[in-house]
Amino acid sequence: MERKVVVLNVGDFVPEEAYADLFNYAEVVFYGRASPDELRRAEVLVTFRVTREDLQVMPNLRVVQVLSAGVDHLDWPSIPETVTVCNNAGSNAIPVAEHALALLLAAAKRITHYDARCRSGDFTRDRITKILYGSEVAVLGLGPIGMRVAELAKALGMRVRGFARRPREEPFIDEFFAYPDVRGALSGADFAVLALPLNKHTRGLIGYDELGAMKRDGVMVNVGRGGVVSKPDLIRFLRENPEFTYATDVFWSPEISQDSDIAALPNAIVTPWIAGAFGHPRVYVEMVRYAVSNVIRYLRGEGLRNVVDRSDYV
Ligand code: NDP
Repeated sequence: MERKVVVLNVGDFVPEEAYADLFNYAEVVFYGRASPDELRRAEVLVTFRVTREDLQVMPNLRVVQVLSAGVDHLDWPSIPETVTVCNNAGSNAIPVAEHALALLLAAAKRITHYDARCRSGDFTRDRITKILYGSEVAVLGLGPIGMRVAELAKALGMRVRGFARRPREEPFIDEFFAYPDVRGALSGADFAVLALPLNKHTRGLIGYDELGAMKRDGVMVNVGRGGVVSKPDLIRFLRENPEFTYATDVFWSPEISQDSDIAALPNAIVTPWIAGAFGHPRVYVEMVRYAVSNVIRYLRGEGLRNVVDRSDYV
């Protein structure tokens, strides 16, 4: 039987051992080096994004395995319903959850505030820090990232509220709130960690009233996507509530520098989208390995994991 063609668009610097297993199951070709005939026969594409042109030259595509956990950047209307799209959720959840905790601790312990002061020679103590033990944290989004955050928060003695669509009972979650009750999840919380995908249901989910549901000196951490929070509402809220902190790794504009107005606010803590692939080269290699393992499941006739419900996006 003719072997299926898999196109890899993963970057030349990725070591072969990250995808070598694939050679046992498929004819593997590399994006940019594949012939028109190989592309025409391609059934699977592993990539960050799929363009309209890709879809034209690969008419037999059945599976697009995206390398990132988020799929909001895809041009969904251009992707035919015959193509199954899989995200890569779980491939980098541990470093992203660690980053969320780093942002949370930096805000709670006023690290950025005092570090900037001390560097300028000012050693005055003007702000109290927050204690995590016994505090309430709302974890919004209970995928691999949110669940790891919940586990870490529980280990620090926090009381964990979870928010997602499907109800669930998990050992690290003390109380569950189902979509759309985001205000219930945030009400009176000391901390919130956003680990939500950006889809048509979550875009702008957090507005002025949702921010206001938290404690006035609360801390909101966002490692999901910027667009889950309304930017104008956030700016207004942060200006009106100087004790509140928004700590984020994610933004609204594809070009992060266009969101420098957030970084300029004294009660914002900002890192430039480094929680995942940009944080450590090993993380990216792991993302490729994880994506390839899903493709192998498909080639072996096993069920694909992380199949995206396109109705969340179109
Ligand atoms: P998953 O896609 O596995 O999990 C998403 C979670 O969000 C699920 O618990 C899902 O709940 C929940 N969810 C989806 N839609 C809604 C909704 N309308 N209301 C409430 N809950 C909802 O994702 P991961 O944990 O792997 O990743 C989450 C996001 O983090 C990614 O989509 C990506 O945008 C971002 N990310 C950011 C990185 C960075 O570098 N900062 C790196 C990696 C990911 P349910 O199962 O009940 O539907």
